[in-house]
Amino acid sequence: MIVSQHIADIRRERWHDPSLTWGLIPTMGYLHEGHLSLARQALRDNDRVGVSIFVNPLQFNNADDLARYPHDIEHDLSLLKKEGIHLVWDPTVETVYPKNFQTSVMLQHVTGPLEGAARPGHFEGVATVVAKLINVFQPNRTYFGQKDAQQVVVVKRMVDDLNFNTEIVTCPIVREADGLAMSSRNVNLTSEGRKIAPIVFQSLSLAKQAYKAGERSGEALRQTMKTKLNSEPRITIDYISVADPQTLEELNVIQERALLSMAVFLDKVRLIDNILLDG
Ligand code: AMP
Repeated sequence: MIVSQHIADIRRERWHDPSLTWGLIPTMGYLHEGHLSLARQALRDNDRVGVSIFVNPLQFNNADDLARYPHDIEHDLSLLKKEGIHLVWDPTVETVYPKNFQTSVMLQHVTGPLEGAARPGHFEGVATVVAKLINVFQPNRTYFGQKDAQQVVVVKRMVDDLNFNTEIVTCPIVREADGLAMSSRNVNLTSEGRKIAPIVFQSLSLAKQAYKAGERSGEALRQTMKTKLNSEPRITIDYISVADPQTLEELNVIQERALLSMAVFLDKVRLIDNILLDG
């Protein structure tokens, strides 16, 4: 496995044999089974797989969240090596955003609601860094987790709109045994908070059950999730949504498909999760 901070090394390795197909997995490190599931999918689909590890300051709208973001590069590299990853880029902030950097990628509409509303500037940071990562690696396929459902919608829009030559592949959410979606931020939960955290997936699952039983009102499903979350006083709701999976606009009535999603605070940790309902 080649590990480098330098763009020239990544490019050289990528184009060493142009007949080989490449997959790219963008990450912010502190890797867990969720990231590794993307790695395994990419290894099945491509001849070679690259991983980027970069905590992108541009996508953090909260300095405290950035400061508390966990790091363990040595552990990450040992996990990636074990999986058989070929190339890792772990650039410095100065490499990604040199002194005179002044370009950013902004999207309309799909970046407005949900995470976009709760975290102003977040998706400008995401779109800008993903554009750079795709340009550095020039992968045939780029892998994202459904865990960050809006991120997938935003990245797909950008790739289509700007004609990036890569296929976006979405992988399912990997969960702990009790349903909690795996996340690097989970390590910041207290042991008490960790016990409460599965309520996020439980509330989504309750709404899914109601949908399966015939409920089609967006408001009724939002209320189901809200009631469950409010039963736990240590949870503060950031948003609860029942939206169209493509436009991300809130739905009054579910016709066919819906994205149930939420963000909550627990122990100052922001947890997000979602379930897709499709017929
Ligand atoms: P991050 O390091 O949090 O930026 O995540 C890097 C990639 O891994 C993103 O595409 C995430 O959506 C994906 N990811 C993170 N957690 C999970 C999970 N629990 N299941 C599936 N994918 C995940």
